[in-house]
Amino acid sequence: MIRTLVVSVTVLIVSTSTLHAQYFGRNKVEYFDFDFRILATEHFDVYYYPREERAARIAAQMAERWYSRFSTLLNHEFNTRQPLVLYGSQAEFAQTNVVPGLLPDSVGGVTDAARRRVTMPFAPTMAETNRVLGHEIAHAFQFDIARRHGGDTAQPLWFIEGIRPDPIQWTV
Ligand SMILES: [Zn+2]
Repeated sequence: MIRTLVVSVTVLIVSTSTLHAQYFGRNKVEYFDFDFRILATEHFDVYYYPREERAARIAAQMAERWYSRFSTLLNHEFNTRQPLVLYGSQAEFAQTNVVPGLLPDSVGGVTDAARRRVTMPFAPTMAETNRVLGHEIAHAFQFDIARRHGGDTAQPLWFIEGIRPDPIQWTV
C-alpha cells in the first residue's frame, strides 16, 4: 500500500566519514531545504519533488521489489524505515549539498552507511534507475547487517564494492 504525505521538509544531513560513494573519508555537515513530498511504502520513505511524482511511484515499486528480493536472499529485515531521496536529474543531484562539489557524473547514487539513507537522481532511463536502486539498496542491506551484528559500518570501500553489490551479480 502506498500513501502520499505532503510535507515541507528541511532535511539536515550530518554526514560522518561513513558516507558512502565512490570515494570516502570526508567529514561534512550540510543541509538543504526543498519542498519534498514523502511517498510512504511498506518499507521506504521516498522523498521526491512534486513534479516527479509519476516517476517516484514507479521507483518506489522498484525499491520495494529490491527490498523483497534482498530480504529473502539475505534472510534479513530492516527494523526501521528506509529513507530514499530521489532527485529529478543528475544535474540537480550534483548541485545538492549531499556530497558538495564532489559528484562526478559517474556517481549514480550514494548510501550513507550510518543512517542507511539512499540518495540518488533518476537515471536517463527507468531501467538504469532500477539498476542504481538495486545497487544502493544492496549497500543499505550490507550496512544494516553489519550494524545488527555489532560491526562498524565504516568499512573500506574496496570491501563494500568488492562483494559485488550490483544486482546483476546476484542470483535474484
Ligand atoms: Zn556502490
